[in-house]
Amino acid sequence: MDFRLQPHQQDTVTRAQGLAESLRAQALVRDDEATFPLDSLKDLADAGLMGVNVRPEYGGLGAGVVAYSLAVSTIAAADPAVAVTMAVNNMVNEVIQQFGTDDQRQHLIPAITSGEFSCGSFCLSEPGSGSDAAGMRTRATRTDDGWSITGAKAWITSGAYAGIFLVWASTGPPEDRAISLFAVPADTPGITVGNAEEKMGQHASNTVALSFDDVKIPADSIVGEPGMGFPIAMMALDGGRIGIASQSLGIADAARSIAEDLGLTDGLHELDAALEAARSITWRAAWLKEQGDRPFSREASVAKLMASEVAGQWAAELYRRLPASSDSAFEDHRRFAAKLLRDVRVTRIYEGTSEIQRIVIARDLIRRASP
Ligand SMILES: Cc1cc2nc3c(=O)[nH]c(=O)nc-3n(C[C@H](O)[C@H](O)[C@H](O)COP(=O)(O)OP(=O)(O)OC[C@H]3O[C@@H](n4cnc5c(N)ncnc54)[C@H](O)[C@@H]3O)c2cc1C
Repeated sequence: MDFRLQPHQQDTVTRAQGLAESLRAQALVRDDEATFPLDSLKDLADAGLMGVNVRPEYGGLGAGVVAYSLAVSTIAAADPAVAVTMAVNNMVNEVIQQFGTDDQRQHLIPAITSGEFSCGSFCLSEPGSGSDAAGMRTRATRTDDGWSITGAKAWITSGAYAGIFLVWASTGPPEDRAISLFAVPADTPGITVGNAEEKMGQHASNTVALSFDDVKIPADSIVGEPGMGFPIAMMALDGGRIGIASQSLGIADAARSIAEDLGLTDGLHELDAALEAARSITWRAAWLKEQGDRPFSREASVAKLMASEVAGQWAAELYRRLPASSDSAFEDHRRFAAKLLRDVRVTRIYEGTSEIQRIVIARDLIRRASP
């Protein structure tokens, strides 16, 4: 087992580090004003960070999942809101790379990796189905030459800025729970983008509701086989959990770094140990996914559960320990610590809540215990 970074991994980290300082410098203003980071996203695209685990022929770095994890953590330590936008773009690209047709790969992935589309969106959750994604009510019905989608999606990251929506919709009788996946251009008639949600944190990430009213798309918009949308979503979420675990590590690293700067780490050895354990399992999950032929669902859930919980503890502990000070140099630390505390909460919610991760882990335990 070799824990040293390979040159391509180090190169990816260096690319992320090259952007982190300016992201951190803008993070508080962007958060105050809830400004979507269009310019920064283009910088990330130019650095190859919208397709870290995407093949170079589609504009990606082809640097693998461990490199991706390291890059997300590095960006998250500077601004968690930018990191989640980056993570969703990478996730959308990976779904198209793995399950899309050649034509979809060649047209859609480079649009995101190059920054031509600032974003892609992953449209699974609905007003009445989050954890129970299979209970979705959005339906796609066949037309003469394609499909028509009608329904509503909720909490869609980057929805107001995306060029392409990956939309899951039911395509069979409700009792069959048959679900398919479609790539839908964001400017297709019939799509309405709701107002940005007013969140407690990550204000610079965009989260909206989408409605689809008889949205007509051609037959070749389907991604993967008809009826295979649900397993595709579950596989994508396994990978997405590594992304959110990595984002959480970045948040914890930022909190720890401020605590170290201010000499506030006394007694935090248990939390420090928990952070390093979370980092190890996140990297292991990333490594397993990178092998291509190994299961990693359980490790991704453990990583997301542990990293998001420990990041929440680091952010809360840092904020609790901050002394009162009127020193203006200290003010930046105080405001960034408050941002981390607000930003970290959703890491326990999106890509599956902590309760859902516990269920995934428990099911795996039971399965392995069964003869
Ligand atoms: C900022 C933000 C961005 C998001 N971005 C996206 C996105 O880009 N795309 C997308 O598709 N979705 C996105 N989501 C949605 C997110 O994935 C869901 O919020 C999440 O899956 C939880 O679903 P829910 O909100 O409907 O809560 P529910 O599923 O209703 O859960 C409510 C509570 O009940 C608990 N619970 C639910 N089921 C069980 C169970 N079986 N056992 C024990 N406890 C349970 C949950 O843990 C939670 O505490 C985003 C959400 C947020 C807040």
